[in-house]
Amino acid sequence: MDHSECIFCKIARGEIPCAKIYETQNILSFLDISPSAPGHALIIPKAHFPTVLEVDPALGPDLITAFGKVGRAVMAATGATGMNVMLNCNESAGQVVFHTHWHVIPRIEGDGLRLWPGGKYDSMQEMSALAEKIRALVA
Ligand code: 5GP
Ligand code: ZN
Repeated sequence: MDHSECIFCKIARGEIPCAKIYETQNILSFLDISPSAPGHALIIPKAHFPTVLEVDPALGPDLITAFGKVGRAVMAATGATGMNVMLNCNESAGQVVFHTHWHVIPRIEGDGLRLWPGGKYDSMQEMSALAEKIRALVA
């Protein structure tokens, strides 16, 4: 696959400007151009992985470090008291840019953002059966 036209590859290569806030050898973080709240940041691996399902697990520590460093700084800069770290995988989940990225969204009490509408199972049995089905499919 040719990634030359990928917008986040272009940002990672410095060909398109971004409001950069954190950079290491493997990771880049910059502000989302269309924020859910001021300070909404994106964290990307510089390497091109279309979705989270393809990400090299070796990047785990770099990503966890970035969540902490970027998250603390975003919260301190905006006065937020919390944050959501989110990722969209595939179009049905709202993914638009197919160079995987995590959203860091600063939160404060009463900001009105509603990200996790809660549902319910009809029974504990239904829940257990689904857990069993998923457990059997974990590769
Ligand atoms: P997704 O829906 O794929 O998880 O999120 C893509 C995000 O990338 C969106 O929130 C969108 O605002 C942001 N975005 C798209 N293009 C650009 C860009 O060129 N620069 C920046 N900084 N953010 C972008
Ligand atoms: Zn890319």
